[in-house]
Amino acid sequence: LRREGFSSIPNTKWEDVGGLNSLRKEFDRHIVQRIKNPEDYEELGLNLEVGFLLHGPPGCGKTLIAKAVANEAGANFIHIKGPELLNKYVGESELAVRTVFSRARTCSPCILFFDEVDALTTMRGKDGNFGDRLLNQLLIELDGADQRKGVYVIGATNRLEVMDPAVLRPGRFGTILYVPLPTIEERGLILKALARKKPVAIDVDLDALGRCEACHNFSGADLSALMNEAAMAALEEKQMTSEDNSSFTRPLVIETSHFEKALVKV
Ligand code: ATP
Repeated sequence: LRREGFSSIPNTKWEDVGGLNSLRKEFDRHIVQRIKNPEDYEELGLNLEVGFLLHGPPGCGKTLIAKAVANEAGANFIHIKGPELLNKYVGESELAVRTVFSRARTCSPCILFFDEVDALTTMRGKDGNFGDRLLNQLLIELDGADQRKGVYVIGATNRLEVMDPAVLRPGRFGTILYVPLPTIEERGLILKALARKKPVAIDVDLDALGRCEACHNFSGADLSALMNEAAMAALEEKQMTSEDNSSFTRPLVIETSHFEKALVKV
């Protein structure tokens, strides 16, 4: 209970997110600008959703984009994993849900991110009435949006089909957004975003790498694993050459050949 609701502004930036442009626009209009320029929205009397649900295959950037939204808005970020709230004694889960929302209110503007949110909503009728009470508590908190100005709730799930329809109504997780596997072009953009933090040689053609057959159906997480393997290959090569000849140390640069080795592994 103590750990849940730990808040800070994340350091993930838009530039760290490859592709997902339409989602980015949506969140910019519906969260970032609302936090930065609330007067415009008030003047127009806009009544917009404060609850969003991201769904889609694993490793495609749901968590990443939620963090980037908080960073861009200069808002606090609270990361809750649905199943962690379930691992509680009777009554504690409901209290944990209340506590999390109350923390979010005290540190607004705030993005409250519920990862694997389906875990909280699929217990209805199971385990005595534990699941019902937990779901009810979540609904009460989601419905109280008027009392929590500056708090935006983003849920994430790989299993939209098992979500209880009650949480998907307007005013709760009212805006449902799909986060798909990256397209061929987006794979290149993701690799470029990942390369920002690594010494990748300038002649490595990351767009071509993203287009190659071996990367077919890769998620962002798979591309991140590929980038890491390539970095490992570069490191191994440097360590090998410095063993052979101690007076000559190669600079650490990730080259095309390292990506070729990595592709075989990932
Ligand atoms: P899950 O459903 O498994 O929780 P997720 O959709 O929340 O997955 P993330 O945690 O955001 O996925 O992504 C995992 C990792 O994959 C990120 O930390 C990042 O390294 C990489 N990644 C995924 N998508 C992208 C993207 N669009 N741009 C850059 N990196 C990405």
